[in-house]
Amino acid sequence: MLRRVFGYADFRGEQAAVVEHLVAGNDCLVLMPTGAGKSLCYQVPALLREGTGIVVSPLIALMQDQVEALEQLGVRAAYLNSSLSGEAAAAVEARLLAGDLDLLYVAPERLLTDRFLRLLERTHVALFAIDEAHCVSQWGHDFRPEYRELNLLHERWPQVPRIALTATADAPTRREIAERLGLDEARQFITSFDRPNIRYRVQLKDNARRQLLDFLAAHRGDAGIVYCLSRRKVEETAEYLSAQGLTALPYHAGLDAGVRAANQRRFLREDGVVMCATIAFGMGIDKPDVRFVAHLDLPKSLEGYYQETGRAGRDGEPAEAWLCYGLGDMVMLRQMIENSEAGEERRWLERRKLDVLLGYCESTRCRRQTLLAAFGEDYPRACGNCDNCLEPPRTWDATVAAQKAMSCVYRTGQRFGVTHLVDVLTGSENDRIRQLGHDQLSTYGIGTELDARQWKGVFRQLVAMGLLEVDVEGHGSLRLTDASRPVLKGGQSVHLREESVRKREKGARAAR
Ligand code: ADP
Ligand code: ZN
Repeated sequence: MLRRVFGYADFRGEQAAVVEHLVAGNDCLVLMPTGAGKSLCYQVPALLREGTGIVVSPLIALMQDQVEALEQLGVRAAYLNSSLSGEAAAAVEARLLAGDLDLLYVAPERLLTDRFLRLLERTHVALFAIDEAHCVSQWGHDFRPEYRELNLLHERWPQVPRIALTATADAPTRREIAERLGLDEARQFITSFDRPNIRYRVQLKDNARRQLLDFLAAHRGDAGIVYCLSRRKVEETAEYLSAQGLTALPYHAGLDAGVRAANQRRFLREDGVVMCATIAFGMGIDKPDVRFVAHLDLPKSLEGYYQETGRAGRDGEPAEAWLCYGLGDMVMLRQMIENSEAGEERRWLERRKLDVLLGYCESTRCRRQTLLAAFGEDYPRACGNCDNCLEPPRTWDATVAAQKAMSCVYRTGQRFGVTHLVDVLTGSENDRIRQLGHDQLSTYGIGTELDARQWKGVFRQLVAMGLLEVDVEGHGSLRLTDASRPVLKGGQSVHLREESVRKREKGARAAR
């Protein structure tokens, strides 16, 4: 079937095992990274088993692409979703009843209607495939409440095998999928999440636009995605890049549906389009030659980051994932979490996720090891294909600097943000300092061995390490944490990443 219908020579990774398992009538949960080839895992069994394979998919665009591709291979496939006219939907339903479909893609809300469920009772179902199964998790940003109802498939058709698939693999989400979909007993197929052809790089935000241009200069003519946090920034970035002569388009949920579809089409069909987007863009986009994914703002979690960057290099050719971040991003994300309407439990979880992400950014360890460790995977060696492997960062004993920074936070009453703290440490002479009497403090001017930029880096790293925290109520002022005390008392040393001058010079030269 694989060779005759799909034209592939061999199965990849665990595909063969999944196919056998499903054809034999068993349930399973498939966790594979984007691009691993999850679709074949249910497409081949749907053809091998009698009846129609029912595929639950959350995205209209994705369904259309898949069905078109299948039809070209001669597979009898169709979809049912809100984009179809009543007439077209009726025609698909008639084909289903006549046994004239190998695969039917259905939106979850459609599947759950009484009408459709009654229809299903009159057809022979080969299997149920639940694609993008992480949509069942309310902690992720793709949460779909209807996914929680999908358990009824098993209750009503206990003899029909089910396969749930996702590229999101952190342990809590994995558990939630199994639990919510009643797949606790099902076999799990997990392949490595490593994407060896993607090179990971993290850069400190200094002048983000210039840094982005530098990065894009190495990707002239390449297709790629630039993620931003806000809709406004998406539009500004697209305009800016266009003004610089790049083909850059915006994509976010606030744009007119027609514009969105047109931009997406251009990204898929034309060469070298840079899509500036919020995370509304990406799930289900099947474009193998995306050469880079850049983040101009911090993503909300490491899983989100991994999934977003996973859209690069699906063809296996070299690709880059580039992230640019600074202290301001951290403060903003913390504020977004604290100001959100979410309950305390959820905010706690989001804070933890942000901490993991910051840990990744500041880490001096191989990026791939850090990423895969977050997904419970042990990568045995340094990868040789990330910034930390290629240009190992140096660290320095920053214990004294950390003590100075912390006592400055303490002496100023834990009420000030980084800019002011750095002014005090470096003995800056400005009105605000004089008005507050901060030039009289014992910490005034005790930090002249570092310049303002270096101090900012110290503060940022201390926050990332949990040695200081952002007081969100206090508009981003910094305060001490429980972990500060041992450092202040001299019982614990602190090593920080050296933010090398050399790298900064290199960046500056490239910009000229
Ligand atoms: P996923 O859903 O896991 O992101 P897809 O199912 O979209 O991945 O597959 C990614 C790409 O890999 C597709 O272009 C697909 O045709 C290709 N592919 C999948 N399985 C094989 C295989 N066994 N041999 C060759 N190419 C494959
Ligand atoms: Zn590495």
